[in-house]
Amino acid sequence: MNILTLLTDTGLCPTNGGAHRMVKQRALYGRVTFMTDIIVLPKYPCSFCKKREATLFCDFVIGYSWTTAKDEKGRMIGSYHETCDNQICGECAIKVSGYDFCPSCDELRKLVKEKHDKRNGRLMIDLLFGRE
Ligand SMILES: [Zn+2]
Ligand SMILES: [Zn+2]
Repeated sequence: MNILTLLTDTGLCPTNGGAHRMVKQRALYGRVTFMTDIIVLPKYPCSFCKKREATLFCDFVIGYSWTTAKDEKGRMIGSYHETCDNQICGECAIKVSGYDFCPSCDELRKLVKEKHDKRNGRLMIDLLFGRE
């Protein structure tokens, strides 16, 4: 094929919430002009589908740590929650109560719900309601 001109411009793809970049290509083959839309490979592909641009980090807590580091205001950070931080696209993310989880962590979340040995006890109730 003899491509005489190739013009590209990027824009947001309207079909997937803006995660994809789209390239409009105008190619002239002889005397005929084609307009084609080509989805280019994302710069930071989602770690799960590998197709769409990653726009989120997984918020799932995978550990409990302590650090002597300080935050940007010079305050000691101390204890903090380590999060999974997998890079994911909006479609692979599982949204729970305002948090975004990757598919792997959502499996863990389901396991916690299923396997956690939650036991009954009066202490918390009595503390909350001021009974003795
Ligand atoms: Zn994805
Ligand atoms: Zn995760």
